[in-house]
Amino acid sequence: MSHMPYVKPTIIQHINSLANKHGRGPSRHSLERIDGVSLTELLERFGSPLFVFSERRLRQRVREVRRAFDLRYPKVQFAWSYKTNYLDAICMVMHDEGAWAEVVSEVEYELALRNGVPPTQILFNGPYKPLPALKNALADGSKVHLDHYDELYAAEQIARELGRKVPVTLRLNMDTGVHPRWDRFGFNLDNGEALSAIRRLHAGGHLELEGLHCHVGTFILDPQAYGRAAARLAQLAIDVRRETGVPVRTLDLGGGFASRATLHAQYAPGTDSTPPVDDYAEAIADALLSAGFPPDELPTLLLETGRSMVDESGSLITRVVANKRLANGARSVVIDAGVNVLFTSFWYRHDVLPVVDRGGMLEDTVVYGPLCMNIDVVRPSVLLPPLEIGDALVVRPVGAYNVTQSMQFIRLRPAMIMIGRDGEVDLIRRAEELDDVKRAEHLPARFRKS
Ligand SMILES: *Cc1c(COP(=O)(O)O)cnc(C)c1O
Repeated sequence: MSHMPYVKPTIIQHINSLANKHGRGPSRHSLERIDGVSLTELLERFGSPLFVFSERRLRQRVREVRRAFDLRYPKVQFAWSYKTNYLDAICMVMHDEGAWAEVVSEVEYELALRNGVPPTQILFNGPYKPLPALKNALADGSKVHLDHYDELYAAEQIARELGRKVPVTLRLNMDTGVHPRWDRFGFNLDNGEALSAIRRLHAGGHLELEGLHCHVGTFILDPQAYGRAAARLAQLAIDVRRETGVPVRTLDLGGGFASRATLHAQYAPGTDSTPPVDDYAEAIADALLSAGFPPDELPTLLLETGRSMVDESGSLITRVVANKRLANGARSVVIDAGVNVLFTSFWYRHDVLPVVDRGGMLEDTVVYGPLCMNIDVVRPSVLLPPLEIGDALVVRPVGAYNVTQSMQFIRLRPAMIMIGRDGEVDLIRRAEELDDVKRAEHLPARFRKS
């Protein structure tokens, strides 16, 4: 008599109509098109995975954010944070919408120049600006945000060489109730360092304090943190005016507004828990308008909004490459895009939804990337319908930081396209080839095989 081989039983909890804690059942979502363009057709044309940016969505969002501030404060200028996404096509949309450039390295400074941004419309941040880059930026009239005393001293030497007074901005940090506190950048306001630096700058006679800057952090969910930062920058500006007689012309509140992505630690989805941009605008404008500036000396408000502008315009389209039951019975799928191109997976509970939902029971699923690395998890848990190999999924939002922080770890980076306002589809970065990665290497002659 032959026995059937033993197969370990798997008990699957089917979640069909049970209400969750919000009293809602699991809802089924799928997304076949972005701006009217079929995602299946895009994958066939450009290959998988594929980053898709919606120009329409991006411009809409930029205008929405700008309007929130323009409504409440008369002098506002945005500068696009290059490190959030420096694809040329994205930067050009931003500049076309009136944004200046905010850069944090000499490399990004060069990118902004190549995109045709005049030096006077570049804000230069960061803890390390190599001397030649610092010189050029100061000589060409960029807004240089000094980070520490060594840089202040270097800027002073450069101004002396140039033989004229050079305007600079001081980056400040302070306790705004946000933790962790980003006190490694700029001069501390709480312990008096900021005021000392300003007095030192003024006494040196070579630099002129044009502006004050503060970047509280990133994905800040409390608009009042900006209200507090704005109030303190404004008070300092007024004190400095009284002491030196020179008005501070710009106050820069940095970036950091939360996008509507959902963080792993958040219970409610980001679409419900992220404050509307109006709340940030209200907090900042209120603080500045009530600070007591004479009307003819109202400073220009500079903003370096990154994530909140671009995040939701980006989606990643990917295909299922395997279905797999884990040892504990849990269902998992492997997709062809991993954390090497989805850095935000470590922070975000991205939406992961099928392009086509062919029905069937939703089941809790782990979504793994294709890397041979334990940490390559795109979603630890998400309800998905049955999927077959080759089925396409959408991961979103992915517009912020994934492109700039991606790397060719094991795999090359995928193609990126933009859907234009009239539905036109343009390749904005082709898929990488092995030579792109190897071009910079040099193999010593002794290792070469003849
Ligand atoms: C990264 C950065 C920004 C943009 O931050 P977001 O969180 O993307 O809005 C703005 N200013 C400075 C100085 C930065 O380092």
